[in-house]
Amino acid sequence: MTETKLKIGNLKNIVMIINPLDTCRFRETSENKFPTGYIHHKEFGLDYLYIGNLCLGIILLALSAILFAQDPSGLPGGVPGDDRFVIHAGISRSFPPWTDGIVAYEFDSTIVERTRDICIQAFYKWEEGTPLRFPPRTTEENYLLIVDSGNSPSFSAVGMRGGRQRIYIAQPANLRNIMHELGHAIGLHHEHQRSDRDQYVVIHEENIGSIYGGNITFVISTINYTPYDFLSIMHYPRNALTSTGKNTIVPREEYMEYLDLMGRSNEISELDKLAVTKIYSGIPALISPADQAGQQPHSGVFLEWSTFPDAIAYHVQISKSKAFDALFLNESIAAISPEPPLAMGTQIYTTSSLEKGETYYWRVRMITPAESKPWSDPFGFQVAHYLLRPNYPNPFNPGTTIEFVLSRKSDVTVKILNLLGEEVETLLSGNLEPGLHTVQWNASGHAAGIYLYWLRAGDIVEARKMILMK
Ligand SMILES: [Zn+2]
Repeated sequence: MTETKLKIGNLKNIVMIINPLDTCRFRETSENKFPTGYIHHKEFGLDYLYIGNLCLGIILLALSAILFAQDPSGLPGGVPGDDRFVIHAGISRSFPPWTDGIVAYEFDSTIVERTRDICIQAFYKWEEGTPLRFPPRTTEENYLLIVDSGNSPSFSAVGMRGGRQRIYIAQPANLRNIMHELGHAIGLHHEHQRSDRDQYVVIHEENIGSIYGGNITFVISTINYTPYDFLSIMHYPRNALTSTGKNTIVPREEYMEYLDLMGRSNEISELDKLAVTKIYSGIPALISPADQAGQQPHSGVFLEWSTFPDAIAYHVQISKSKAFDALFLNESIAAISPEPPLAMGTQIYTTSSLEKGETYYWRVRMITPAESKPWSDPFGFQVAHYLLRPNYPNPFNPGTTIEFVLSRKSDVTVKILNLLGEEVETLLSGNLEPGLHTVQWNASGHAAGIYLYWLRAGDIVEARKMILMK
């Protein structure tokens, strides 16, 4: 096998074509072991790859950024005293949580006494306040084998892969690093890669110069159990993987207070623990409508929550009371299995009509063959008074904007009528997706006066007045 040396310019363009869920190649390697034999970085930051097979190497590297968390040395604090650091909180959809929260472990013979002691501290940190337990392995079929990474970065697969699963610890070991890698093993991705990260941070790719850049740049399709957490043990610091000395991850302006806090925590954050507790207690994450969402359509609301591999059904309740004493909906809904290769997904249920202007609360619990799991915390949402929102501006000349909200895919017609109910103009007619829609009316050419904008969506008809001033 000839060894190829190549300089990586912009790896992003290559790796984006890889299906992030194609895990076969990893499954074929022994014991989920990352094939470090193919990739060496003599000196971190040089960005050279030495690989035996170019294509295989690139695929492995691309996948590694998504399926594995390979934290370059110094990143979750590979060097004692180095305050560059990392942690995560969106959970992997591709692999299930560890059965009953039991993560059995074994130490490889490469692990020295000092590292063992730090690992045991890290287990304790994750056990504290969560349902996770890290017992030394006896007969468990699925377990972590903790291995010294040699000259390579620390890394861990994300989630339970089944069988013996290696987790590599860079030397000299430190507690932050190991808590972070364990976070990966129990299912957490990097916080700064979760699906909603662009609302919270800006990634400066121009400053990233590393074969591990995918650990920052990729956005991963995660299920987010808790709000974005700059303090997560799964968040990288602002200058992670920088090649220019400038920041690579910067909070959006309204979150700038976290600039120097992210990626530096010495503890597993409260939100990290809350996310893990929900996941390992079988408590669904409520996704939509979000808590305190307004303007929900009265014709019916889409409820979306996260699913678990062992669910047979979900119990869904909606009430006008936060105590759920009078129920508007109280239903058991058969669980839908996610499409492979996903192990975890989301499920949707559409309600019947709700009262306009009312506030409702909803919650979900999982039913397994053995028991009912705990309820999720309730989320509240408010039902819009109308499908049609007030037009703006109003009065207007000559143009105005009309907005409406659909709860489901509907045949929609929007017309302008005069006060006699005669059609002036049809603005829109078609089959539309759920969500907020916007349509403009330009009234130049029409006389000043009062007009109606009229909407039919399925069997619902609404109209509002507006004033054209000239
Ligand atoms: Zn990591």
